Amino acid sequence: MELDRETLEKAAQGALERPSDAMFWDDRLFTTHGAVFHWAELSDDLLEESNYLTALAEIQGAAGDDADEHVIDGTSRHFAHGSLRTIYVQVYDDDVIRCRKCASAAAWAVSRKKHGRRRFLCGACKNDWDWDSKHYGLPALEPIAYRPRFTAAFIEATELALSLQDYPILDESDYSEREWEAFEKALKEAVEHAQSEYGLVDTCAEDNAIAELYYQNEDGEHRQNWRSPDDVDWEVVATEYREARDVYFLELATEVYRWNVLGYSPDQLALFAA
Ligand SMILES: [Zn+2]
Repeated sequence: MELDRETLEKAAQGALERPSDAMFWDDRLFTTHGAVFHWAELSDDLLEESNYLTALAEIQGAAGDDADEHVIDGTSRHFAHGSLRTIYVQVYDDDVIRCRKCASAAAWAVSRKKHGRRRFLCGACKNDWDWDSKHYGLPALEPIAYRPRFTAAFIEATELALSLQDYPILDESDYSEREWEAFEKALKEAVEHAQSEYGLVDTCAEDNAIAELYYQNEDGEHRQNWRSPDDVDWEVVATEYREARDVYFLELATEVYRWNVLGYSPDQLALFAA
C-alpha cells in the first residue's frame, strides 16, 4: 500500500492531538511522538491484545535501528480501563525543520522581504503570520510549502491502522493462537471446578486420570463445538466430567474383579488391553 501525503498528514494530526484530560510522564508524547494504538490490558479482549502486540512488533521492525528512539510502548493509568497500553511513534524524521514559534514540525517557509531570510512555520503559526501580513499590510513573498519527512515507524503505523478499517484482524494466526490458549485455560478452570465436587473422595492421581479421560472424549461438547473461552459452560463440563468419572471407576472395578476373581495380574491385563 502506498500512502499519499494527504493521508499521512491527516494521520499525523490525529496522532499528535493531545488529549486534554491527561498528564504525560514523558515530554515527547504529543510533541514529537503521536499515539497510534491502544490496548486496555485488563479487558480480556483478545483481539485488541493480538492487534496491539502485532502492531508493536511490525512498527518496531519498520523502525529498525531507530526502534528504541522512535517507538514507545507506554502504560498509563486510565479511569475507565485501569491500565492502558499505548504505542507512541515519532511522527517526523529526526532532522526535520521545526516551527520557529512553537517547535512543532514546520509546514511552510515564509519571508516578508524579497531578499529576507526564510523562516519556517507550522500550519497554525502560519495562519497568524498571514493574519499579520494582511492586517498590517506587510509585504510578503508567496509562502512555500515545506514537506517534512515521516519516519518509517509512523508510515507503518498508519498503514496498519488503515488496514484495520478493511479487516479487523492484523495477524489471523496470532489471534487464533491466543484464543485457543484462552480456551484451554477456561476449560481447565471448569474441569478443576468439576473436580472440587469430589475433593474429599478422589485422590490426586484419580483426578488426573479422570480429567485425561474427559479431555480425550471425542463425543464431548468441548471437542465437538467449543473453540473460544466464551463457549465453556461449567454445567456441561460438570456433567461430562461426572460421566468420565463413572467410566473410570467402572473400568477400575472391572479390573479389580478380573484380578481378584479371575486371577489375572495387571501385566496380563495390559496384554489384553493391547
Ligand atoms: Zn508553530
